[in-house]
Amino acid sequence: MIGKNAITNYLKFSGHKAIDCKVALIDCDGILFDSMKNHTRAWVKLMKKNGIKCTRDEFYLYEGMTGAAIIKLMFKKGAGKNITDDEAWELYKVKGRYFKELGEVPVMPGAQAMLETLRDAGIERVLVTGSREPSVLERIDVEYPGLFSEKRVTAHDTKHGKPNPEPYLKGMAKAEAKPNQCIVVENAPLGVQAAHAAGCFTVGITTGPIAEKELAKAGADIVFKSMEDFVATLPELIQDFKDTSK
Ligand code: MG
Repeated sequence: MIGKNAITNYLKFSGHKAIDCKVALIDCDGILFDSMKNHTRAWVKLMKKNGIKCTRDEFYLYEGMTGAAIIKLMFKKGAGKNITDDEAWELYKVKGRYFKELGEVPVMPGAQAMLETLRDAGIERVLVTGSREPSVLERIDVEYPGLFSEKRVTAHDTKHGKPNPEPYLKGMAKAEAKPNQCIVVENAPLGVQAAHAAGCFTVGITTGPIAEKELAKAGADIVFKSMEDFVATLPELIQDFKDTSK
């Protein structure tokens, strides 16, 4: 039982008696698409053009924050400048252009198999992303036809970015599910924090340069070193939810 300890710890911490897994709340960037490389490249280009020093790696840590929040943080940190939300969203449009110029992002190897395994187990798949990037969102139904529920949460539905639990709370509300009826699949520390704060059993998958221990520290109940690793284990984990909850 690969998930036994993780499930036992989750139940102890949350006070729930069982995980009755009916819904998977699934993040987009770094889970469905291998898009973070291009996002971080576009971020660095935007910052350089504005004279702000940065590294690509730091943008992996900010993944999940709203675009405006990232820009405001970087301008404050790198140039001591306070900029308005409107100014930040204008700059975000430029970042979106740079991202698009880098071309179509690849789908995440294994993500299709993950969704099919969840579907075959009768678990509803609900997209929960802080993204408002149309070039990525529009591809979900093209690359993963029929694999997602119509219920979706994007940046257009939320006020707060991750690590605020709002996106996952909204996902749960749309799915009409309680925290112990949902699992979350996330790749970013702030996304894991948001899911954990929403009270869901949180699966962290490292699909970029962030170390596995960072996802555990952020509150992931179980961490996998790759999407393929998660997919190989998922049927056993789903069985563990049932067995541990008897
Ligand atoms: Mg992500």
